Amino acid sequence: MIPKSIIEKEISNLSSTLKPITAQMHTWAEKSIFLKWGVLSRGKFHCFECAHSWKPESQSKSCQKFIKCTSCGGKLKIQGCNQVHFREIEYFGVLDVCQDYQVVRIICSHKHMKKNVTPTYSHKEVMQHWINPKGEVRTMSLSTNVFSHAYDAWQYYSSLEIRPKNFQNSPKYQINPYKVYPHMKVLPILKRNGFKTGVYNIAPQILFTALLKDSIAETILKAKQTSLLSYYLQSPHQKILRNWQAVKVCLKNNYIITDYTIWEDYIATLQWFKKDLSCPSFVCPENLNASHDKLVAKKRELQRKKYLIKMRAEIQKVQKVYAEEKKCFFGLCFSHQNLNITVLENVQDFMEEGDILQHCIFTNEYHKKNNSLLFSARIDNIPVETIEVSLSKMEITQCRGIKNNKSKHHKLIMSLMKKNLYQIHSRMKKGKSVKR
Ligand SMILES: [Zn+2]
Repeated sequence: MIPKSIIEKEISNLSSTLKPITAQMHTWAEKSIFLKWGVLSRGKFHCFECAHSWKPESQSKSCQKFIKCTSCGGKLKIQGCNQVHFREIEYFGVLDVCQDYQVVRIICSHKHMKKNVTPTYSHKEVMQHWINPKGEVRTMSLSTNVFSHAYDAWQYYSSLEIRPKNFQNSPKYQINPYKVYPHMKVLPILKRNGFKTGVYNIAPQILFTALLKDSIAETILKAKQTSLLSYYLQSPHQKILRNWQAVKVCLKNNYIITDYTIWEDYIATLQWFKKDLSCPSFVCPENLNASHDKLVAKKRELQRKKYLIKMRAEIQKVQKVYAEEKKCFFGLCFSHQNLNITVLENVQDFMEEGDILQHCIFTNEYHKKNNSLLFSARIDNIPVETIEVSLSKMEITQCRGIKNNKSKHHKLIMSLMKKNLYQIHSRMKKGKSVKR
């Protein structure tokens, strides 16, 4: 894009006066931003770092994810797909100052690796974010290949050009360099607003613009709430603002939120219990994880109680219908030694049976099935299996224990049931004649 406005012309001119990225910076990046790689190829390990190759000592070593090179001592990540030629791409950032601008320079680095040779590198500055003291930003960047699916398919032979104002909406703007070159040049106003050297995993251009125009970001950083800060800058701001009262209590009490997402969940649970969020003893728990877990368990228990009350009311309603339909079978009981098989007479029993044996007879509303009759098989009065009998076919449809598996009494239960199916049949005939 050809620079048109005064600012665009100014930035384009200033950009050409910046010193090139130095060989020293490149060397630092080559050491700091890449992994070391190795590959197992034709029964031998190959170090992509020093080109050394050797035979693994044992079979088990050949399936490790990391291995130490026996020559250079590098901790090598093992290339899974047995490639002998590949590259790694990574970004690093350089912080520069030019007149009143904070400049965030983004360099894209390639590491080319090949079996039996040492790696080669290439580096190219692909973007410059120019940030003025008001926190307004304009970006210069290389062109990208519009036919590629990747948003950062840079055309390395193009030159840095000023991009439109709305470039901040592009995914390219969000690119977060893996590391920032440690010798930084930073505007004094950024230091005044709390920046020291850490970027806390936040893209520097995003951190700097926030520190220059958003007093909340500045407050959070100065309070050393780095987990909170990165969350604040990454997610929609409303989420933090919704809890702003509680956040302020933390800031006032020098309470560091170690994990913002857990803390947020904890605050939401406090709210559910209608606790006072201006009270530090609630909002600033000494052990966040333990307090969170305890409170969530308490909430779950309460919800379960509420659910049971609701279920009981529901059960009373359906019990009448159920009794009316299955009354003629009530009292049926088949026994053999300490095994008792009885008809489920109450809908409540369906729920308890389902809870104990962890199957779905209650949740799937077997009590509402017209054509089925359900029995509980118990040893010393403890449920071991539930039996469903089809009333139209007069046969056992299913007979299941814990989590729908067979119990060790399954055979005995089945034979006792089969022997007594005739009793169900005769009750049914009697029931029908009564109905008529
Ligand atoms: Zn090596």
